[in-house]
Amino acid sequence: MQSDIQRMLISQEQIALRVRELAGQITADHTPPKLLSGEITIVPILTGAFIFCGDLIRQIPLPIRIGLLTVSSYPGMSVRTQGSQLIGQQLGELRGRHVVLVDDILDSGGTIALVVPKLLELGAASVKTCVLLRKDRPAAKGVVADYVGFEIPDEFVVGYGLDYNDYYRNLPNIVTLRPEAIESKK
Ligand code: 5GP
Ligand code: MG
Repeated sequence: MQSDIQRMLISQEQIALRVRELAGQITADHTPPKLLSGEITIVPILTGAFIFCGDLIRQIPLPIRIGLLTVSSYPGMSVRTQGSQLIGQQLGELRGRHVVLVDDILDSGGTIALVVPKLLELGAASVKTCVLLRKDRPAAKGVVADYVGFEIPDEFVVGYGLDYNDYYRNLPNIVTLRPEAIESKK
């Protein structure tokens, strides 16, 4: 796997520092008296956000519930979005809950544009969005993220939960792949 890497964009040490800062911001914004209940529901968008979410929530010392959503936007061997599709959910009761949606990367904005209205329809009292990465491209669909870890160039990246054809999620750093690797994992 190491020989498939073209370039490291963000190291695991940089990620750990930034995750701690994001968790601090989320905690500050949801702690009484800012938010009376001081309780939140975290909704990671699977599969890509599972590692980020696991690290993030362990730095948030508030009462937390977890809801799960699975969205497919880069199915299989895609390196460009094919449009976001909701393919699974296990959200529990959201009525009156303050939700923080967690995704790995904001690209076209299609995923967030699909999911936020759905969570509000289910009765969430508020929905904030947290993404580890945001690609440097005109924010499509007017999507705003409340918490952003890193701005990255408009390149296809893997690692720390992000995949290519379901491989490379276990790489600890955020990296780009060599074209030969993309060919060989097809
Ligand atoms: P959006 O809906 O904002 O276009 O894209 C969000 C989803 O597309 C992410 O949750 C992720 O699954 C996928 N995605 C977007 N860019 C990349 C990328 O550079 N690498 C990988 N592995 N997935 C990406
Ligand atoms: Mg995703």
